[in-house]
Amino acid sequence: MPELTDSDLEALDAADPLAPFRGRFRMPPGLVYLDGNSLGPLPGAVPARLARVVEEEWGGSLIRGWNDHRWLDLPLRLGDKIARLVGAGAGEVAVADSTSINLFKLLAATLEARPGRSTLLVEEDTFPTDAYMAEGLVRLAGTGHRLRRAPAHELAERLDDDVAVVLVSHVDYRSGEITDMAELERAARLRDALVVWDLAHSAGALPLALNADGARLAVGCGYKFLNGGPGAPAFLYVAHELQATLRQPLSGWLGHADPFAFESGYRPAEGIARFLCGTPPILSMSALDEAVDLLLEIDRDALREKSMALGEVFLRLVDERCAGFGLHRACPADARRRGSQVSLAHPQAYALTRALVERGVIPDFRTPDVLRCGLGAPYLRYADLGLAVDTLRDVLATGAWDEPRFKTRSGVP
Ligand SMILES: *Cc1c(COP(=O)(O)O)cnc(C)c1O
Repeated sequence: MPELTDSDLEALDAADPLAPFRGRFRMPPGLVYLDGNSLGPLPGAVPARLARVVEEEWGGSLIRGWNDHRWLDLPLRLGDKIARLVGAGAGEVAVADSTSINLFKLLAATLEARPGRSTLLVEEDTFPTDAYMAEGLVRLAGTGHRLRRAPAHELAERLDDDVAVVLVSHVDYRSGEITDMAELERAARLRDALVVWDLAHSAGALPLALNADGARLAVGCGYKFLNGGPGAPAFLYVAHELQATLRQPLSGWLGHADPFAFESGYRPAEGIARFLCGTPPILSMSALDEAVDLLLEIDRDALREKSMALGEVFLRLVDERCAGFGLHRACPADARRRGSQVSLAHPQAYALTRALVERGVIPDFRTPDVLRCGLGAPYLRYADLGLAVDTLRDVLATGAWDEPRFKTRSGVP
């Protein structure tokens, strides 16, 4: 195969059906952004939406906004939109709280739903907050539950009749590897165990089929591939089949059957509303709402196709243009097994990341040695990948990364 040239990349951009969507984001000129899996870029329609919500809705309507602008049901209205992105039904998704908090709520609900079982089977390499939240829950519950850890690909075979719940990321945050949802759900159902899926690196990045794959419980993040802005609210999914039997412990008033009756005791709402807790953050939820509207315009299959093509081109460019510099693939070779990212391992990954950022190419670093490149298919161009890989080669070839200022760790890596 002949090497990819820059004009090949331009031809790919010219034929890209998603190309018009790039202009719907505010992307600083000259920047190659490979970190939409940590913080998605700003959709162009968000500033005006936020100005409207602040000036007209809050400023003009004040307390009447809860009814007049339907703020109160925004968590469920927006949940229904996200449901369409993840292959869930209406009334199965709610937007609330953070991913960490939603994990706590759903994990706690599963422990109560599987009395007599004492194991939480947690993916070994999970994003730390997931395991931390499970640890905190077990300590608080004081019921002798314990965490058992296993690699994602071994979870199905590690299931036994003591496992109440399995906690796993659908797409691994470091390697980008996908865990087969339908397969693990089948295995879990045979053992009557529940699975909580973390969709932080899946929702908005690739088409999901939660209903069709038999998924019953999931949480997801609003500020990564959903582009909802820094600290955007998260979401949770509970399949209809489980909603009536599960109860979550953060029994705040907005999960009550009749919040404004101000009853003295808690009665959970019917349906997904029982997984809400307190008052929704309307400003940040409005930004997420606008961002999700934009994603809903994009054909899901075209998005996946481009995302896989970006990954293939990126890895090929790295092979062709950065050979001999000690980079190794740290992600699955098969595009169908990868989320929307590629990961490269290098002993100096941290300093490389810092040097790249200074040159206007923004990936991120994940300990111990991974250079992680998120591939936001709605806004990335193939030519951006050429520029990123050329910059990477330059940083490696000149040893530009080898400066003390790139090696001291500070702030968000
Ligand atoms: C980003 C991420 C989170 C983030 O949790 P927060 O509560 O938003 O801080 C959780 N889990 C995974 C797998 C993530 O990638």
